[in-house]
Amino acid sequence: MNRVIIIGTGVAGLSVARTLTPYVDVLMFSKGAVDDGATPLAQGGIAVPIGPTDSVHSHVHDTLRAGHFTNNVWTVAAVIGDAKNRLNDLLSIGFHPDRNADGSINLALEGGHSLPRVVHARDHSGRHLHDVLLADVRKHDSVDIMPYSSVESLIQNDSAVSGAIARSTLTHEVRYYTADAVVIASGGIGAQFPLTTNPESATGDGIQLALEVGARVSNVDKVQWHPTALVPDGSSDVHDRPPHTHVMMPLITEALRGAGAKLVDVNGNDVVPLSRHPQGCLAPRDVVTAACWESMKNTNKSCVYLDATGLNKSELLTKFPGVVHTCMVNGIDPTVQRIPVAPAVHYLCGGITTNLNGATNVEGLYAVGECADTGLHGSNRLASNSLLEGLVMGHRCGLFLNSLHRNHKKEYMVI
Ligand SMILES: Cc1cc2nc3c(=O)[nH]c(=O)nc-3n(C[C@H](O)[C@H](O)[C@H](O)COP(=O)(O)OP(=O)(O)OC[C@H]3O[C@@H](n4cnc5c(N)ncnc54)[C@H](O)[C@@H]3O)c2cc1C
Repeated sequence: MNRVIIIGTGVAGLSVARTLTPYVDVLMFSKGAVDDGATPLAQGGIAVPIGPTDSVHSHVHDTLRAGHFTNNVWTVAAVIGDAKNRLNDLLSIGFHPDRNADGSINLALEGGHSLPRVVHARDHSGRHLHDVLLADVRKHDSVDIMPYSSVESLIQNDSAVSGAIARSTLTHEVRYYTADAVVIASGGIGAQFPLTTNPESATGDGIQLALEVGARVSNVDKVQWHPTALVPDGSSDVHDRPPHTHVMMPLITEALRGAGAKLVDVNGNDVVPLSRHPQGCLAPRDVVTAACWESMKNTNKSCVYLDATGLNKSELLTKFPGVVHTCMVNGIDPTVQRIPVAPAVHYLCGGITTNLNGATNVEGLYAVGECADTGLHGSNRLASNSLLEGLVMGHRCGLFLNSLHRNHKKEYMVI
């Protein structure tokens, strides 16, 4: 194992890259700028069971319950069991989460979690995480990053994947790159839908590349909607836009509901009353999304509303500066006005089928992050489990590739 290609520079790809030994040459691609993926857009944060009354068991249970018990329990146990180690690793390279006055890490409550569990950096957790991971990867001389390079196909030698063909999105020059392994970390598919929280890069390229070389793909029908994306003009019907246009709807983090914002219809009625779900508007996403659609239909409106006007104003401004900014630039003052929101396509639970090392059924081909189906999420992802999956699976995949490198060296020495 001398050279590894990684398609994608989000949390998953960067986690693989920084785990690989310096003896392996690494080439990373991103279609646009190095931060064009979903990772820097994440607001809420990373779910880690570190609260005083929390446990791996409780986090596992919430993950299985949100996923309607269709998850792969081995994956769930492995990913959540490693969460605390990955957080400690992040802290060691300069990740600064919000902290309480006593120095402990502040944990936010999000939908589907039975208690506060989400480690965050105000409401720009993904941007901070991406900056920290990227800075760490840039310290590795063995890693080259090629932004504005779109991988258009994989090279196959007999059945094994042995490289990739990339086109510069600036000059259109096409180049061939050989490698001992290719890791697909290309993110989700949201940009294929007209209304989404996802960036333009999320077109599912990696899944297409994997299918072309015979990789198995599973659960790609498990597309998660986020219930609260901002409807920039609450009075216009975003759902009447022409199909096949990519309208990126800014997300309004679930943590706002966790902090006390209410989800109400135009008449001020709860969208998810406790009679519908014991967690009310903090129920798992599929429940809240279905309730939003129903409410919009019953009230004949194109949105419901997040009402954060009851929250302490200075708390709103300090804890959710990104949300406040997004609202303000769209003409809404969330300290005094309700925020018009509607469901939008947000996350792909399925993808390229992998084992717990990120390996696919095709020799030399690996997949990690949102493009992969490890079985962690089942049919519905628990909030803030995605960045966690990228960190854990990226690390595991990197360790596995290192072990191949060692084996390779050993064989060579024996010979
Ligand atoms: C608005 C928003 C908020 C979110 N909030 C949270 C949250 O709080 N907590 C949480 O856990 N999850 C959250 N998620 C989900 C989470 O951010 C993503 O699932 C995760 O970041 C995906 O990481 P990734 O590394 O798999 O892919 P990405 O970060 O999307 O990166 C994909 C990379 O692949 C590259 N790529 C794609 N195709 C090609 C190609 N053909 N050639 C070369 N490169 C290619 C892209 O350029 C990009 O660099 C959120 C998602 C969104 C959209």
